[in-house]
Amino acid sequence: MSRRRLDSRSGLPAGLLSDIQTPISTEPLESVYEITGELGRGKFAVVKRCVEKSSGKVFAAKFLRKRRRGRDCRSEVIHEMAVLEMSHNNNRVVNLHAAHETDHDIVLILEYAAGGEIFDHCVSDELLPEAQITRLIRQTLEGVHNLHQSNLVHLDLKPQNILLTGLSPLGDIKIVDFGLARRLGAVGELREILGTPEYVAPEVLNYEPITTATDLWSVGVIAYMLVTGESPFVGDDKQETYLNVSQVNVDYSRENFSMVSELAVDFIRKLLVKAPEDRPSAAECMSHPWLWQLCLSPDLTAPTRPVRERSCGIKWAAPPEDPEDKENFLESPHSHAKRFRFDEESSTRGEGDC
Ligand code: ADP
Ligand code: MG
Repeated sequence: MSRRRLDSRSGLPAGLLSDIQTPISTEPLESVYEITGELGRGKFAVVKRCVEKSSGKVFAAKFLRKRRRGRDCRSEVIHEMAVLEMSHNNNRVVNLHAAHETDHDIVLILEYAAGGEIFDHCVSDELLPEAQITRLIRQTLEGVHNLHQSNLVHLDLKPQNILLTGLSPLGDIKIVDFGLARRLGAVGELREILGTPEYVAPEVLNYEPITTATDLWSVGVIAYMLVTGESPFVGDDKQETYLNVSQVNVDYSRENFSMVSELAVDFIRKLLVKAPEDRPSAAECMSHPWLWQLCLSPDLTAPTRPVRERSCGIKWAAPPEDPEDKENFLESPHSHAKRFRFDEESSTRGEGDC
């Protein structure tokens, strides 16, 4: 997707933040870090694992091109740094440790998320049990809520940009990739075309105002992918994907959802709605009973789902973990369960419930 609103004078995307505290060092990267291998890459960045020589600490070095398609993009890199700095106290956002400048790149030295992308768990033959999925979604919502409290919208939330601090045992989430993030209110209405077609909300495709609700659509897509292993809107080509998104053409058939609880479906249905104003906020989502059903279970060691065959692999049931780090919850699970309105029939226990 490439259509962006440009600043008429500079030709740059409008509303970029420019205030940063982190100095951009020109000291040669190799003298400070040992670069050990590639962790991932996107359109304009490559991310490599690196070890700080003085401390032995591992970081992720994100190499961002200063020039892209013949255009100076330094201000966009500075913007990404500024957003990361604004999110410094947000425990669900990856931390910015330092920045370096080389001939072609600005290199952001980021907190290392050793567990990889949650995308791997969407395409794996073995999908995560719902108890783990709800924990990851709660943490994602917490991070998104904190961003929204600062008037920041991420606009590129997708399973590739939600990382894990560890793999075994499954760690906590860290949100990365703030290249498309924007500060709401900085330049009046935001109507840029951004993001990745599969994960982007209908208002983005329709060039309608972007709000915090735009991120909540993406959370719905992520939840769908984690529970089913399928991408809800992807079509055979871009055109078909756009059409699926703008018509909210979602498959809730039993074939995809046979091992998924009714509450999970209810949660996803509440987020994948066309009108942004009809989507719950991140804080409201946190009160959805799906997110709490398994951690309120009296028997936390019982398996929650039987193993079964599915079209794209096997779903397995691992024992749910401890009811996690409660201090990070927005409020207590009990108060949430009372506040969220959900369909009566959805409150009945699904196959996967405890
Ligand atoms: P882009 O803007 O090009 O999409 P990202 O910031 O999303 O770049 O990084 C690309 C990929 O690199 C991610 O999807 C992830 O796999 C990996 N990655 C990014 N940041 C980290 C990190 N802090 N720790 C570990 N891996 C990372
Ligand atoms: Mg990315």
